[in-house]
Parts: sequence; structure tokens; C-alpha cells
Amino acid sequence: MFNPNDIREQFPILDSKVYGRPLIYLDNAATTQKPRCVIDAISEAYCTINANVHRGVHHLSQVATERFEEARRTVRRFINAPDSRQIIFTRGTTESINLIASSFGDTFLKEGDQVIISTMEHHSNIVPWQLLRERIGIEIKIIPLKADATLDVEAYKELFTERTRLVSLTHVSNVLGCTNPVKECIDIAHSHGVPILIDGAQSTPHIKVDVQALDADFFVFSGHKMYGPTGIGVLYGKEQWLEQMQPYHGGGEMIQTVKFEKTTFNELPYKFEAGTPDYIGAIALGKAIEFIEHVGIENIAAHEHSLTQYALERLSEVDNMRIIGCPDGSAVSLLVGDIHPADLGTLLDRLGIAIRTGHHCAQPLIDHLGIPGTVRASFALYNTKDEVDILVEGIKRVARMFA
Ligand code: PLP
Repeated sequence: MFNPNDIREQFPILDSKVYGRPLIYLDNAATTQKPRCVIDAISEAYCTINANVHRGVHHLSQVATERFEEARRTVRRFINAPDSRQIIFTRGTTESINLIASSFGDTFLKEGDQVIISTMEHHSNIVPWQLLRERIGIEIKIIPLKADATLDVEAYKELFTERTRLVSLTHVSNVLGCTNPVKECIDIAHSHGVPILIDGAQSTPHIKVDVQALDADFFVFSGHKMYGPTGIGVLYGKEQWLEQMQPYHGGGEMIQTVKFEKTTFNELPYKFEAGTPDYIGAIALGKAIEFIEHVGIENIAAHEHSLTQYALERLSEVDNMRIIGCPDGSAVSLLVGDIHPADLGTLLDRLGIAIRTGHHCAQPLIDHLGIPGTVRASFALYNTKDEVDILVEGIKRVARMFA
């Protein structure tokens, strides 16, 4: 087990002060802070190996290309994908899902076909399917939640018909902090012959992901939520789908030959990487993965789990506290009496505590729960029990002000 206080020294921003108080950063589900090694990797890459990848015979371009492809191999190892060809670099989870909705949709779906998502999805796993619905007339079916706001797996089983073509489901809810039984959901989808996309934005930074053990058809995540830079993310897919899917964007890199009459497309993964990729971001993401592997994802999971349990314990001291959902990972959503989440968040901010308030890009879930939003504290490997104590004392203080 690691000591979070040692880890903190590697994150320069954690020394910041906010309104003269030490920063308590508990908005990690939105984005994590970056360790020095990731920041340095970006600077080092620009200072020493910067050149456009896959395009030059010259030395620098070849070195940049090798480092970019090495990052792809690091991602492959991290999620245990069978082959680096199945790792497509995107701008993040949102772009990965849009790519699948567009390319899988154009290739395999037609009017009246059905895609299953759940009530607890992030907007990025709702809106791309709605755009596809507008475009080709698919039907979107929604997995309901049980009374405790966990996924209703029995109801999910009933949604399949002969027109179901894809399931797209979040691994961990960014609002409820619960981990969905994705392996079971994947097996159910496969028993109907239906492929399934898993949104790993909130799982990959916190728990071990093995796409082969899961048998997910697609798995997507964002670099910035796992100590990597912004603007880089990943789409993993099974070759059987990626090979058949039409390209997403057209342009340089994704082609084999271009004639005015007809263009032929590049092999995987380049078919889906049109234009100059964010190779510096990919290299820095590779460094973030090495950082996680060095600490140990199991250690990170255990630490964050114990912080969440401690937070739940301490929060129960607060009068009129409501925990929203059944958090089992690294994020806790709550409401206190009828204090509006935005008020609670604003006042906590004055105490130097950065937490998230609002609908967390999951408006249909918030509407379903019949609440104005939540206040969400989300933990990373550098958070401490002392910070949880400061959060709880801060919430008590705000609650007294409103009493
Ligand atoms: N899916 C989930 C569950 C998320 O929590 C988020 C971001 O909060 C996203 C998707 C979108 O991620 P990004 O904005 O990095 O594309």
C-alpha cells in the first residue's frame, strides 16, 4: 500500500492555495491532476522529438512515430487488448462514443433498429445515439433503475428484441458512484448475439480493466481522468467490428490511395485516425499509465475504496444528509436537507474545497431521481482522510449557516 502523502509531492498543483486555504481537490471524476512525470513528458517530447508522425523519412519523424506507437502498445497492455491495432486514439470518451455511433451506425444499423442504453448514462452516451436516431430513425431503449438507483438487470434482459443491434452502458456511474455488473450485462447481450460498448471513463482510472476477460466489443475512456493530459482518449474495439466499420473522419493518414474517383482506406488503427493525431498527448498518456502501473491499480482501488467508506461513515454525522445512489468506488453524491447543491458547492469552494455540483452531464438521471442535482466528492490516489475530514467539517459548517 502506498502513502498518499508521498504521492502528493509528485503533483505540483496540490500545493496551491485557494482563497488563502490549502486546495482540497475532490473533483477527480471531472478531471484528475497531473503528476510531474506526465507534465515533464509533454515538455520533453516537444523539446526533443517533435515531428509529425507516420509522414517523414527523416529521423525526428521516425522517433516521434516510434514513441507514439510505443504509447499505443502501453495502452494495449494496460487494458489487456489482444493487439495494438485495436487501440484507436481519439480526443476522449465523448469522441470515441461518437465515432462508434457514427461508424457502427452507418455500417450496421437501419431504421427501426434498437440500441439499448441505461438511465444513468452521461450525456456523451445519450446524445450520439439521439443524433443517430435523427439521422436514420433508430429506436433507443432505456434500462431502468431499481429503487436503490442500481441497474435493473432483470428489466435489461427484457429489452432485447430481434431488432436490438447494440448495447452501450457505463461501467461506473459518474453520479451515483456505483459499479455496474458489466460482465453480466456483456454476457446477456452476447446471449442475444448483440455487441456491447462499455463506457470506461469512470472505471479505467480506478479499477483493473481487462477487455478480454470482460469480452467487451468496444471499450472507451479518457486520458485526462487518469492522470494523463486533456484531449487524448482511447477506443478499443474487437477487430471483427472495426474491420467492417466505415471510417469516421476522412483526411490524411486514414487512406491507402486517393483518386478523385475513389479512395481506399488504411488498415487498423489508422483507418480511424484521420489527420495529425495528438501524438504528444498519446506519449504523455503512456507516461500516465506507467505512473498508474508503478503505483499499482489495485493499490489505487484499495485506497480510494477506503476513502469512500471513510467519507460515508463521517458524512453520516451530518444532519439531513442523503447519499444519492449506492457508491462503491471513488465518488460520493449527496444532498443536505434542502440546501441547493450550487449553494453548498459555492460555500465549500470558499473553504478551498473543490467539489462538483449540478447534473454532472446526466440530466435524465437527475430528472429520474427528482432532485435538483447533487454535490459530488470524487477521490483520487492523492486524496487523504484529512481531506475527507475537512470536507465533512465544511459541509457541517454550511449546514449550520442554513439551519
Ligand atoms: N462518460 C462518463 C461516465 C463520464 O463521467 C464522462 C465525463 O465525465 C464522459 C463519459 C465524457 O468524458 P470526456 O468529457 O472526457 O469525453
